Amino acid sequence: MARAGLCLRRSVDSRKAMPQYPAFICRDCPFVTRRLLILFVLAAGLTAGCGLAWHFAWQRGIDTLRRHASVRADRTTGALKSTLERYESLPYLLAEHPFVQDLLTSPSAANVARANHYLEDLNQHARATAAYVIKADGLCVAASNWRGPESFVGVQYRFRPYFVDALRGLVGRFFGIGTISHDPGYFISQPVWRDGKIVGVTVVKLNLEWFQGADMAEPLIVTDDHGVIFLSSVAAWKYHTMRPLPEALAASIFQTRQYAQQNITSLPVTTEQRYADDAEIVRLGRGRLAPRYLMTRRAIGEPDWHLMTLASVAPVDADARDAAIVTGFGYLSLCLLAFYWRMRRARVREMIRSRALLQASYAALNQRVAERTIDLSQANAQLQREVAERTRAEQELRAAHDELIQASKLAALGQMAAGITHELNQPLAALRGFSDNTQVLLERGDQAAVRDNLEAIAALTERMGKITNQLKLFVGRARPRNAVVPVVRALRNALALLQQRLERVTMTFTQHDARQLTPQLQPLDIHEDYPQFIAYCDELRLEQVLINLLSNALDAVADAPQPHIAIVLSVAATKFTLSIDDNGPGITDEVLPHLFEPFFTTKEMGMGLGLGLAIASSIARECGGALEARNAPGGGACFILTLRRAVLPDARTVFPHDLVS
Ligand code: ADP
Repeated sequence: MARAGLCLRRSVDSRKAMPQYPAFICRDCPFVTRRLLILFVLAAGLTAGCGLAWHFAWQRGIDTLRRHASVRADRTTGALKSTLERYESLPYLLAEHPFVQDLLTSPSAANVARANHYLEDLNQHARATAAYVIKADGLCVAASNWRGPESFVGVQYRFRPYFVDALRGLVGRFFGIGTISHDPGYFISQPVWRDGKIVGVTVVKLNLEWFQGADMAEPLIVTDDHGVIFLSSVAAWKYHTMRPLPEALAASIFQTRQYAQQNITSLPVTTEQRYADDAEIVRLGRGRLAPRYLMTRRAIGEPDWHLMTLASVAPVDADARDAAIVTGFGYLSLCLLAFYWRMRRARVREMIRSRALLQASYAALNQRVAERTIDLSQANAQLQREVAERTRAEQELRAAHDELIQASKLAALGQMAAGITHELNQPLAALRGFSDNTQVLLERGDQAAVRDNLEAIAALTERMGKITNQLKLFVGRARPRNAVVPVVRALRNALALLQQRLERVTMTFTQHDARQLTPQLQPLDIHEDYPQFIAYCDELRLEQVLINLLSNALDAVADAPQPHIAIVLSVAATKFTLSIDDNGPGITDEVLPHLFEPFFTTKEMGMGLGLGLAIASSIARECGGALEARNAPGGGACFILTLRRAVLPDARTVFPHDLVS
């Protein structure tokens, strides 16, 4: 996300509220933001830096160029001057020579020939271009080149300025294009005096073309007294002026044929900068691409010529440009360095802040851990205390349970005692009757009747033994917790103990196999053993539970016109469910929540202790099962006992009695 820059007129918060605007624009104020300002300042700095670098480099280059150009101009001017001075006296010496004097006073063929040979010889030794003698009427009478086809002899020079000057008694100095040779040259003339009269003129012509050189990088210019360029390494500049010539002057130059038929025009020169020491920067040509030169001017003196050296400014421009580029790159590098340093500083700050935050959170975490550890230690100690208390309470509860079981047993024993008394009284009375009767029969000698009586007595005693045996089993010690019991046998024993009370009740036994796809109720033969129906429970405890449930059912159906109790054993893969339904009055809504509470009873005083269901439920839980109560849909109460099923490897071989031992 683009981070908004610092607005010049608005606070940071107000801009944060307008994220839809670009980073550089602020809706309420049209001013540039801080980032754009920085960019602007950097760009200005870059421009200024490059400009200054360019300026100083250019100035330094120009200074150096000026120094070099000045030295060159002085040296070249000195060389030109010394050349001219060397030939300056030659026409004078010629004028004084007797051959020339004789020629002009008596231009005989012999004098002409002698003069021609002399001039030829002199010209050769002096290395001049030509030397010749003109009569006072302007006609050339002798010349060093008298032999050649371009001989000056017989040529009229009356119109030439150097002749005119010499006739006036002056030294003639003139640069022009030869009328015969058409070669440019420098003419020096002297008047020839004889008897106080000028009788002729001597002239020496010098070719200065060698002097101009051909260095295009540093051209050389020599201008005459009118400013016309007559010597230059650049041929195109010749016979032009650096400044426009007045028209009259241009016409007169044309008339003198100084530069033959050349039309004198000015070069396109623009002065860009002028320095004090006769130096200036000029652009030669039109347009910005025209080359620029540092022009250094020197006056020759006599003749009134000027020598100008031109040094190209292009290398200085290139150096200045390079300096500007290097400075620009340096500046940009510095900016990048500064930017990098700024970023790095920000990152370091961020890291320091993050580390501080981390340390703070670490410290806070440590603090929390310490606090939590204290809390946990306290909670642990509390838990240990509670565990200890609970263990103690459980022990007490278990002891109370055991006591309750014992009390329940005693209560059941009391109940049973009446039944047993009743049960035993009858056989005892019968035994007494049988023994009295047997004595009578023995006295009579009725052996058969005695035998019958004794068999009846034996049957009665066996029945009495059964009753006492059940009693002994009931009051026996508790069995181990992981004991297993055949469910049907425990049921049979419980029923046997309640046999007398059950006689007036209709009982049904059915089995329900929950493992079958379509489970159906099937009659269960209570007298048979079912080795596969083994549950985890102590046998006597299970009998106790069943006796309690059956006793309650018997109590419930006591007033029913057709008392009926249905026992259904459901078999599943891992558990048994034994339900005992009766057709008694059922359980009211007030009674139902308190059913399994100890000492809760609705029975009359002396008839119930309210411990039966509490004990039965407790035993069921101990065995890993449960005991529930509800009202049956067709009326009456329904108690459902759930037990864990014991799956033995080979139940048939170990069943029945070995399992419980
Ligand atoms: P007690 O039988 O000594 O009263 P229990 O704990 O065995 O103690 O039973 C508690 C109460 O539960 C009984 O007083 C009775 O009100 C109710 N009860 C138990 N079984 C039945 C039943 N089959 N039908 C109706 N009420 C029952």
